[in-house]
Amino acid sequence: MLIGADQSLAVQPMSRYRPKLETFFLAVALLAICAPAQVQGQKWSAQWEPVKLVNGSPVLFRVTAPKQLTALAGNFLGQDLSFRLSQSCHCWYALAGVNLATKPGRYTLRVEGTGPYEKKAAMNYQVAVAAAHYPFSTIKVAPAFVEPPKEAQAAIEAADAAKKSAFSATDANPLWSGRFIPPAEAETSGVFGSARIYNGKKKSQHTGLDFRVSTGTPVHATNSGTVILARPLYFEGNCVMLDHGQGLLTIYMHLSEFKVKEGEKVAAGQLVALSGGTGRSTAPHLHFAVRWRGEYLDPRTLLDLRPPEK
Ligand SMILES: [Zn+2]
Repeated sequence: MLIGADQSLAVQPMSRYRPKLETFFLAVALLAICAPAQVQGQKWSAQWEPVKLVNGSPVLFRVTAPKQLTALAGNFLGQDLSFRLSQSCHCWYALAGVNLATKPGRYTLRVEGTGPYEKKAAMNYQVAVAAAHYPFSTIKVAPAFVEPPKEAQAAIEAADAAKKSAFSATDANPLWSGRFIPPAEAETSGVFGSARIYNGKKKSQHTGLDFRVSTGTPVHATNSGTVILARPLYFEGNCVMLDHGQGLLTIYMHLSEFKVKEGEKVAAGQLVALSGGTGRSTAPHLHFAVRWRGEYLDPRTLLDLRPPEK
């Protein structure tokens, strides 16, 4: 989607009709509104993927800004963004997210560039967010995973503490680059956002994407990052969490075997584990989740984004 500065008007050839005076003034006014914003002779423009944003979606912003700028920061839905300059597209890009609770509406993307001599230049873009239509599904699991027995309490608390510390461990710099690749070569089911009713009781929304794999299938890192958790958890089973920097994490659940250790750096596509059916799982599969600044986002959308390669 191309908006704001580069928005152009479809103007009919003047020779086909005689414009009235009012039409002329209206056209002048419209041109003034849509005239490209220029800073030292250069245009600003912004684009985003996916074009149609919904609640629960990751979003990749690309901003073209005056060449003199040496840094670009932004803010969207209350989150600060730091943009990276890509040599391949000559644009600035940053990843952000629209959390599940976001209401449909128009939200401002604010970008602010710093130029030489600390000069600042800023632009605002209006970004539309529509309501996602997530499905419903009913799941049967062992009763202990819907109403965990007292003796499971210690294991649940230990898992919560491990997750809490992993969730807060994110690098200040982006560790990912290029496209996010599917963690397994398999069909997917159990889409993100579907409301799940466990054993007749509504418990939660499914906040990941399931890959249909049998036990022992290789599971790969979707992008480069650091292993911030690789241990068994009560509901998630054997779980690997990767930090991709700036609050972006990916999570791999129900694994049978770990192939990495906590603290290890991983490359995109590196083998991190083998799949399985540990934890709260009806059958062996890989549950793949994407977490950004404390909110789960749709992994399918992340895999479909096309960030610049460099
Ligand atoms: Zn799942």
